[in-house]
Amino acid sequence: MHASFRRQLILDRIKEDGRVQVAELSQTLGVSRMTIHRDLSRLAEEGLVRRVRGGAEALTEPGDLLGGGRCPMCSMRVRQRTAFIVQCAEGAQLRACCPHCGLLLLDSRPSAVSALAADFLHGRMINVRTATFLVEPNLTVCCTPSVLCFQQREDAIRFQKGFGGWVMDLFQAQAHLRGVMRLKTMMDEP
Ligand SMILES: [Zn+2]
Ligand SMILES: [Zn+2]
Repeated sequence: MHASFRRQLILDRIKEDGRVQVAELSQTLGVSRMTIHRDLSRLAEEGLVRRVRGGAEALTEPGDLLGGGRCPMCSMRVRQRTAFIVQCAEGAQLRACCPHCGLLLLDSRPSAVSALAADFLHGRMINVRTATFLVEPNLTVCCTPSVLCFQQREDAIRFQKGFGGWVMDLFQAQAHLRGVMRLKTMMDEP
C-alpha cells in the first residue's frame, strides 16, 4: 500500500471516528506501529490532525465550531464570517452572530473567561482582548450599530478611512455599545 494512500485512509478514519489508536491501525492496515507513528506525525505536521497519547485525534474544524447555531442575543444564524465566541468558566461556549451581539453577550456573562472573534479581513479567529474594533462604520454586516473586529489595528484604520466609525479597543467598544443600547432602550420606551 502506497504511503500517501495509507495516510488518506488514516485521515478518513480520524474524520469519521474523531480519533484513532496506533495499535489498532497497525493491525487493521497490516503495517508496523512505527510506520503508523510516522504517518500520524506527518499528518500532524501538515496540521491535519492532533497527536495524542497512543494515537491522534481530529482537529475541531472552524465549520463544526461555528456552523448552524443561533445567536443567543438576537437569534440570527451564526455565520463563520462574523462569528464571536464567548467561553464561560463553567465550560459553556456561546456563539454570537457578530461582534455587536458578542460584546453585549460578553457583558451579560460575568463568568466569561475569554472570547474569540473572526477577523473581519482575514477570517481567522482571534483573541478579542488584543483585537481592535471598528465601531459604527457605514457598513452593515449583521446587527446595528455595526461592530467589526480586526487583529491588526492598521486594518481597522484602513476600514475606517473607507467606512468611517471609531477605532476602539475591547474595553472602549464594550462601553460604547453599552451606552448606545441604553439610549436605544430609553428611546424605545413609550
Ligand atoms: Zn446576534
Ligand atoms: Zn449580529
